[in-house]
Amino acid sequence: MSNKVIFLDRDGTLNVDHGYVNEADQWQWCDGAIDACKLLQNARYTLAIVTNQSGIAQGKYTVEQMHKLHEYMLAEFEAHGVHIAMVAYCPHDRGQSDCDCRKPKIGMAKQIEAKIGEIDYVNSWIVGDKEADLLFGKNAGTHTAIIRSQYWEEGKLSQKPDLIVDSLKQAAEKIV
Ligand SMILES: [Mg+2]
Ligand SMILES: [Zn+2]
Repeated sequence: MSNKVIFLDRDGTLNVDHGYVNEADQWQWCDGAIDACKLLQNARYTLAIVTNQSGIAQGKYTVEQMHKLHEYMLAEFEAHGVHIAMVAYCPHDRGQSDCDCRKPKIGMAKQIEAKIGEIDYVNSWIVGDKEADLLFGKNAGTHTAIIRSQYWEEGKLSQKPDLIVDSLKQAAEKIV
């Protein structure tokens, strides 16, 4: 059977977006984010993270620093019984021609599919806080839940999300 996946954006969805977060002491969970993931996991969704980390290409932090931060994040998830199947990341900057992974491109979805097996895109979701997340979902053929943020304005999105919400928690409650 193919996997129903919740593609989770990281910054602004799981953790508060303080801008180029790269250390555990900058990591602040969004309210209810872990519980939301648990709710989705209990509803038999596979959870996977898709995160654009152009700070690596820009030299703001290293890929090793990012992995270390993700180890911290995953340990917190596991402590609450939440399993993340994969953390896919794009280390490239916008406009880098060799990159097929930076959202809204769907290379990270393909990386996840290579790891976990066939994905049932039609019954999957992306939850994120930027237009790039919305378009990633549209390009991959998933449902889309977009969190209100400083990065977009209602009525100015190029496509219509299935859900507009205030948080991952609210998205999860509507999805399940
Ligand atoms: Mg984000
Ligand atoms: Zn990339």
